Formats: sequence, structure tokens, C-alpha cells
Amino acid sequence: MHFLENSVDLRNKRGSVEVIAGSMFSGKTEELIRRLKRAMIAGLKVEIFKPALDKRYSDDCVVSHDERSIPSTPVETASMILLLSGDVDVVGVDEAQFFDNAIVEVCRVLADRGIRVVVAGLDMDFAGKPFGPMPEIMATAEYVTKVHAICVECGNLANYSFRLADDDRLVMLGEKELYRPLCRNCYVRISSDNKDNQGADNNS
Ligand code: ZN
Repeated sequence: MHFLENSVDLRNKRGSVEVIAGSMFSGKTEELIRRLKRAMIAGLKVEIFKPALDKRYSDDCVVSHDERSIPSTPVETASMILLLSGDVDVVGVDEAQFFDNAIVEVCRVLADRGIRVVVAGLDMDFAGKPFGPMPEIMATAEYVTKVHAICVECGNLANYSFRLADDDRLVMLGEKELYRPLCRNCYVRISSDNKDNQGADNNS
């Protein structure tokens, strides 16, 4: 089911926070772009922000994996979004998991001002742990949409971003080939297989 927007009333603006959360390859950014393009069609003034560290394809566009894009502004900190959102109706935030925790307060302040805030981000990191400020944003939002990828092992809905590389750094961007979308069953099975293999290596 598609998300349906509230009716537009420009004289009596009502702010809200919407979250689009999911694993890698789940179509989060595509859904963000879809909502923001519909807001533009409705004649609303839209600004889009992303953390400055996400330079994977383009410096000034939110680019989804299927290459539909929309102009966006890279910002170093969440609080810069407040400074740059003076006269807008809708604020989009992509890759929200990489922002500092101030993003939670920024979303609240914007929504309290009457702005519709649409936030997309990874709900979990590669270890299956809640990612950065996403839990708090989801808890304080009016609407949360979870989107899912497809498990490459079994074809069921996937909600884990399994990392193939042996690297514990949390921030590894753009290396699409290093991640595989997995469902819970396959994530548990492959994670425990890997642990067993590592144990065997250590014993030899
Ligand atoms: Zn599976």
C-alpha cells in the first residue's frame, strides 16, 4: 500500500515527521524521491538534505540505486538543516542514520514550525543493531514506513544488510557489492556459519 499524503492547506500548515526506514536495497531512497516529487507536483517548496559524507555518486543530488535523482544539499551537521530551511513547506532528509543525534531535535523543530519532514535511513547497521539516531526519529514521528529488500538466498522479504567484508567500520559507503540483503533466517544461518569458520581458522 502506498503512503497517502495529508491534504494540503497552505494557510494553516500542519507539520509532521514521516520516516522511511529499511535495509540496504529496500528502496528507501526511491520512496523518499517519490514522496518529494509528489510534493513538488502539489506546488510545495521542497528542500532535501543529506550528510556531507555521502559522496557516493554525486555531490549535490539524492541518487537512488535506480538512478532517479533529485537535487539536494550536503550538510556537515544536522543543525545546518534548520538554518537552510527558512521558507520551505517540505524538508527531505536522506541517509539520516549518518547524522549526529541533533537530527532528532531538528526534525521536531521543523515539524513544530508547520513543515512536513520526510526522513529516509537505514534502520539497522550490518550487525543488526539500531543505527545512530534512527530509533529516536522513528519513535517521535507521526508515520513510520518500513520498506524491505528481497533476500538473495531464499527470495523472502529481507530486513538485514549482511556485510561480506571483514571490516568492523560502521561507515562504509557505496560499496554495494559488499552487502547482501538477507531475511532473518538466512542472516542467522550465514552469521553462525561464518563464526564457525572463524573458530576453525583460529584453532588450526
Ligand atoms: Zn532468506
